[in-house]
Amino acid sequence: MMYINGEWLSTSDTFDITNPATGEVIGAMADAKAEDAVHAIKMAHQAFQSWSKTTAYERSNYLYQAYQLMLERKSELAQLMTAEQGKPLKAAMFEVQYAADFLLWFAEEAKRNYGETIPSARADQRFIVSQMPIGVVAAITPWNYPISMLTRKLAPALAAGCTVVLKPAESTPLCAKAVFDIFHDIGLPQGVINLLPTQNPAPIGDVFCTHPQVKKVTFTGSTAVGKHLATLAAPFLKRMSMELGGNAPFIVFEDAHPEHAAKGVSLVKFLNSGQACISPNRIFVHRNIADQFIETLQQRINKMVVGNGQDANVSVGPLINRVAMEKMESLVADAQNLGAQLISGGKRLTEQPLDKGFFFAPTLLTHVTHEMAVYQQEIFGPIASVIIFDDEQAVVDAANDTDYGLAAYVYTENLARALRVQEQLQFGIIGINDINPTSAAAPFGGMKESGLGREGAREGLAEYLETKLTGIKV
Ligand code: ADP
Repeated sequence: MMYINGEWLSTSDTFDITNPATGEVIGAMADAKAEDAVHAIKMAHQAFQSWSKTTAYERSNYLYQAYQLMLERKSELAQLMTAEQGKPLKAAMFEVQYAADFLLWFAEEAKRNYGETIPSARADQRFIVSQMPIGVVAAITPWNYPISMLTRKLAPALAAGCTVVLKPAESTPLCAKAVFDIFHDIGLPQGVINLLPTQNPAPIGDVFCTHPQVKKVTFTGSTAVGKHLATLAAPFLKRMSMELGGNAPFIVFEDAHPEHAAKGVSLVKFLNSGQACISPNRIFVHRNIADQFIETLQQRINKMVVGNGQDANVSVGPLINRVAMEKMESLVADAQNLGAQLISGGKRLTEQPLDKGFFFAPTLLTHVTHEMAVYQQEIFGPIASVIIFDDEQAVVDAANDTDYGLAAYVYTENLARALRVQEQLQFGIIGINDINPTSAAAPFGGMKESGLGREGAREGLAEYLETKLTGIKV
């Protein structure tokens, strides 16, 4: 089903969605085409004429109702997410809460879209600065956080007074449908949000980036696709927000508690099976505490239970598909060829019933060096790769020596060092002895090739607004 102008529409072409833990088909979705995107944009453009004139209080109220309904449906949404995307049920429950947090946050921010007046040099002149909704927004979302990445875009867009056409990832359109059902059920006016699931994203992406009625493109996904979309949209000077890949350093200094740091990295690294853009990619550990750190990390990895996220004791679910699993195999092989030591895991899990899904063992590699693909590339999977360092400035330089700049983590008990390092790190999100530096209230986004703009927080609303200056002669 596609959702256009307030209606669920079926199409002749559909595609199947499979559970990555079992290989079972769990549903089918409409396979939207470029012409459907053109139609949806037309409807969103029409709806913008009235939606942009609603009061901030009306828009806030819709978001608040969506927030309440999402929480009522929390458990069924989480079940669906586990079946479609694979993450353990408990993690899915956290994600639905995080998704709902954006609805509540922007229900509140909608009412705080302040302008300002500016003193003029002329006695007979007044300046008013106001913030206007940009217009129709085209959104493209990923599969790794298949509910919260939608509300992180929909909520601020709606709060600002924009209308939206959204293309979800081909692996997780059922979660997207469930989010749209919520807005349908609270009676959001027709055409304000529109959903275009497809198994062939490029033609719809092309329409989004080139259609004259789309004023803004917001994308979360890989840096390669983000650059492609930015190139398509550049001749039209469309506003862009991009949440792209990362290559997060996780630096453990010799004054950190090695067991505490190892526990932290084991929690954040294997979250969502490592399929997160803020997942630690390069774990730098000071030589003096490396043995203790690696030993604790290994113990924790060995205790992880891999399996179907529906089972309560499972801590690590499957990868999203076969390609992702094969990428892990080639990353491990490349690292071993270049001298890394495989301490745990390193292989696909094939005992029954795991052989039906895309399971890769939580993996620990040590002696990782700059030449290896696990160091250079975004891993996006359950591989912890450890690099030993000796010197503070050298490790900061190594951490920054990447085109990415999304998240970085630092473990130290020395306040002066924490500040010195925090000031030098070229990353948009920094956790100091903290593995979860994210919240709907805090600006999320990357420097360098990790993105453009920020989501969540006050900044998240600004991404959907244009500044209008008015001078008045009195
Ligand atoms: P990943 O490698 O994590 O799947 P992608 O960047 O490929 O990341 O996917 C993120 C989103 O981008 C998904 O919704 C996907 O369908 C979409 N996408 C991928 N290729 C294109 C494209 N050429 N045009 C538009 N959207 C695309």
